[in-house]
Amino acid sequence: MSTSAQSVLNDFRAFLKKIKAYEEAIGLMYWDLRTGAPKKSVEGRSETIGELSGEMFRMSVSERMGEYLNTLGEPETFAGLSEVDRKIVQVSRKEYDRSVKIPPEMYQAYVVLTSKAESVWEEAKHASDFPMFRPYLEQIVKTNLEFIDLWGYEGEKYNTLLDMYEPEMTVDALDRLFGRLRERLVPLVEAISETAQPDITFLDQTFAKEKQQSFGLFILEQMGFDFAAGRLDETVHPFATGLNLGDVRITTRYLERDVVSALFGIIHEGGHALYEQNISPDLAGTPLCTGTSMGIHESQSRFWENVIGRSRPFWSRYFVDLQRTFPGQFNGVAPENFYRAINRVEPSLIRIEADELTYNLHIMIRYELEKALFNGSLQVADLPAAWNEKYNEYLGVRPEQDSVGVLQDVHWSGGSFGYFPSYSLGNMYAAQFTHTMRRELPEMEADVAAGRLLPIKQWLCDKIYRYGKLRDPGELVREITGESLNPDYLVDYLEVKYKNIYRLS
Ligand code: ZN
Repeated sequence: MSTSAQSVLNDFRAFLKKIKAYEEAIGLMYWDLRTGAPKKSVEGRSETIGELSGEMFRMSVSERMGEYLNTLGEPETFAGLSEVDRKIVQVSRKEYDRSVKIPPEMYQAYVVLTSKAESVWEEAKHASDFPMFRPYLEQIVKTNLEFIDLWGYEGEKYNTLLDMYEPEMTVDALDRLFGRLRERLVPLVEAISETAQPDITFLDQTFAKEKQQSFGLFILEQMGFDFAAGRLDETVHPFATGLNLGDVRITTRYLERDVVSALFGIIHEGGHALYEQNISPDLAGTPLCTGTSMGIHESQSRFWENVIGRSRPFWSRYFVDLQRTFPGQFNGVAPENFYRAINRVEPSLIRIEADELTYNLHIMIRYELEKALFNGSLQVADLPAAWNEKYNEYLGVRPEQDSVGVLQDVHWSGGSFGYFPSYSLGNMYAAQFTHTMRRELPEMEADVAAGRLLPIKQWLCDKIYRYGKLRDPGELVREITGESLNPDYLVDYLEVKYKNIYRLS
């Protein structure tokens, strides 16, 4: 590479590092807003986030950025770049082409809007008051539709939003993938509903929050979470945020009457955190230093939460520790009883507390509502009624108030439309990766039963974590499993697991 190209590359990397610094500061402010910032700080903090985001945005759409990308994108120069730098240029180009179409003032106003909307949502949810939240949501949807018109779209407008979280994903593809799940999972859920339920009476107790926390921390440590590079805090809606390789934070919500809700939340967010903590240091400070897509990110959280955390080998090893944490509270309960209790399948109202099997139906509902909001067949004002109708249709339950209905999730308040499908995609990816993992780590189940989780973490580091955004989701799946995303692995896994638990033939 010529000296001038080398010097452009160095400047470009320094420029990106500065953008990343803004991103980190903003991420930390969001974390603060959601983990105990004083109520009166919200308004001002939202403005500050708006200012910093605006600055970051102006840098990312600046002429300078355009020049870097043009220079480094010239075929001869591009060919001389390292694999990492080529990918950085490609990823930055895609971001740039998207962002340059949005006027900076419009973007900044949107950041302020969503930041305020999240706080309003929290209050509205608490008061079960959808009308309080409605004007914010209407404005968010309206702005997203304006963004889509500026970005352009192929086929459905919603495709443009899907692509932000899962590159190349479309309504057509999702209709097919979800169709396959629906076809085989609905009969399974029906068969289960006609079968005797496992005993869960021993879960109906009070479990001290501090003890739940200490057990959660213990399991995180077993998974290989690096506490020198992360922490666990409390919040209304659990999340994980990777600020940099040395600072990955997760949160959970403790319910004293539920011993597993916070725990599986911790394992879930812990899965996200392991991904973010183990990206190759070569990618630090670059746009590649994050998960490759939301679907792949969710595959990691849901792998740890469900495939490992809700498995029989896991509880054959760790139930004794849970018993020790809550002395006397699990007397006479065998690990197998606990395993069956935590895998009880029951249609319910709340997504984050849904069982592994019906979970996908919660996602399908949100997917269909989002699709309808963005193709114009549904208005925000009609959302609560449509929500309740779909819950009745798919799950046979109907929310009596919006706090446990349409207001339950934080996503829409942050403008994250197109995100929900990631959860089901994550389940599909996870099942497909697990299929390969079992072949390559034949001792996997015995390892889990012996409390050796680190070989599994290492496999994920080698195959997935270390690449960050260097490999696209489709590439990653094909390289690891030898084929593209196939929903049958998920359905096969769920059928085997739940037919065993419910003793169905
Ligand atoms: Zn997640």
